[in-house]
Amino acid sequence: MTHICFIVAMRAEAQPLIDHFALTPLGQPFAPLPMQAFAGSYNDQQITLVVNGTDSKGLDHIGCEAATLATQLAITTYRPHLIINAGTAGGFKAHGAEIGDIYLSHKHVVFHDRRVAIPGWDTMGQSYAPCIETNEIATKSGFKQGICTSGSSLDMTPYDYEQMAITGGEVKDMEAAAIAWVAQLHHTPFLAIKSITDIVDSGRPTAEEFNANLHQAATALQQACFLLIERQLLVTYCK
Ligand code: SAH
Repeated sequence: MTHICFIVAMRAEAQPLIDHFALTPLGQPFAPLPMQAFAGSYNDQQITLVVNGTDSKGLDHIGCEAATLATQLAITTYRPHLIINAGTAGGFKAHGAEIGDIYLSHKHVVFHDRRVAIPGWDTMGQSYAPCIETNEIATKSGFKQGICTSGSSLDMTPYDYEQMAITGGEVKDMEAAAIAWVAQLHHTPFLAIKSITDIVDSGRPTAEEFNANLHQAATALQQACFLLIERQLLVTYCK
């Protein structure tokens, strides 16, 4: 059976998916590492979900380091045919993004804050890990497509902004590029699906917008992931 594994940074992003697909908790299978796993199946597709887990204060382990670990553990333990990074992200009004929009990754995923100003090493820093071709899924689902870029901060420096402009970045998060990199090393196909919580060029503080819209965006994310699984739109990309 086709096996799809979701990697999700925050429990608030994962919970609607866990509930909707009625996934069974597998606990914290990699203890003492904090990642938690869930499993189930829907419409002839096996589903595993790994969420990064929380620290001693109950805060989610957001960011590239935890995402790298979670993806390595998920791929080597569960051997999925496709890795999906489902999460929230910032969008750009300059690219027509609105809160709650769903974006599919497009072409490749890059880092926007790994600066190495030496020819050759600059693109190494940016990474350019591939994602699956999403044109057909976008046509069938109506979701937008955009180049995802990741960095280690919720806010953005002028240099990050410049990097996003150079690399064509349209969707900004803190995990996708790390997850795509691990998937690439394992030759596992990768897709990011991102629900927009904040508009980074709106002038409003990102943290404020993020918190106001997280619930709405997480619901939109769950509905979007459900549509992809329900209509079996990913099966041909699984290998
Ligand atoms: N301050 C939040 C913490 C979440 S940080 C809280 O109070 O709970 C942001 C998380 O959402 C990361 O996992 C990241 O991938 C995603 N994200 C959403 N919007 C983002 C943006 N504009 N830039 C970077 N990451 C963003």
